[in-house]
Amino acid sequence: MNMENHFDVIIVGSGPAGLTAAIYTTRAALKTLVIAGEKWGGQLMLTSLVENFPGFPEGIMGPELMENMRKQAEHHGAVIKNNNFTEGDFTKRPFTLKTGVEEYTASAVILASGADARWLGVPGEVEKIGKGVSSCATCDAMFFRDRNIFVVGGGDSAMEEALVLAKVAKSVTLIHRRDAFRASEIMLQRAKDNPKITFLLNSEVVEVKGGMKVESAVVKNNQTGTTEEMPVDGIFVAIGHIPNTKFYQGIDLDEQGYIKVQDHYHTNIPGVFTAGDVHDRAYRQGITAAGFGAAAALEAERWLTTDGKGVDFVAN
Ligand code: NAP
Repeated sequence: MNMENHFDVIIVGSGPAGLTAAIYTTRAALKTLVIAGEKWGGQLMLTSLVENFPGFPEGIMGPELMENMRKQAEHHGAVIKNNNFTEGDFTKRPFTLKTGVEEYTASAVILASGADARWLGVPGEVEKIGKGVSSCATCDAMFFRDRNIFVVGGGDSAMEEALVLAKVAKSVTLIHRRDAFRASEIMLQRAKDNPKITFLLNSEVVEVKGGMKVESAVVKNNQTGTTEEMPVDGIFVAIGHIPNTKFYQGIDLDEQGYIKVQDHYHTNIPGVFTAGDVHDRAYRQGITAAGFGAAAALEAERWLTTDGKGVDFVAN
């Protein structure tokens, strides 16, 4: 075994879950590598002001928060590589993880590779992320007080986003491409009962327009084919998330590709743990991801000193 490239813990992912896990493992004197990805930092790198992460009374910019977490993990000794994880062999110990350029081994692994919001992929959308286009009402609703908002989607997330936004916005128009919903009846009914929420069905946002911020959207009626440019201040896209699990062979995933959590943040493979949005579809907050990261790190540490102790060195 090449001890230089061997780590007690390798963490895949560098959002709040991965970097918090690294702070905990390094402080537990575990040699730690974070495979951070070329676009390190996760979804908070795409947000502007974060007002709901405790400890910052006036809020903090998402990228600054992630820089701070990274510096804190490095301060405690984490090795952080901005390479993409490409392959992992979790069938035998030590586990082998590749980044394309390097190969590493680990006694324990924490998979914290997050999930990406699914975007519409229409002209003008990507340029306006953080400038009126968002995928998180809990994070950004406060910036849209008394504004007119579109929410796109027909699932529970869209209903939830619309309900959160309706508390502060002037109006919320829920735009869905069909007239049948994936949302649960109870969530749909709550949205329908809210006087601020109106439904625009069989319709799709096909273009986002504006200068420095969102000013209007082109909406297409997909039954008639007609389009209309409608003024709007914010567009919340709630059409699902894509967990970053496509390279995880041998790890049990659910039907939507999220990692299945066993007891206490273990995956189906002893010694491989998980943290954050890659398994959590319910909360998806920076602070909950950080909490999951701390928990997974504590479990990894515990496992390395109990069931996983010395297992790398038995015949593989
Ligand atoms: P989802 O149930 O998969 O719904 C995604 C919605 O987005 C669908 O209505 C879909 O339309 C629409 N969509 C997908 N791609 C689109 C595109 N390119 N353009 C326009 N519309 C598009 O996803 P979700 O709402 O994020 O929910 C995911 C899971 O989390 C579900 O199991 C849900 O129950 C759960 N969840 C629960 C709660 C809660 O209970 N409080 C809250 C949030 C999420 P089609 O229907 O036409 O495919």
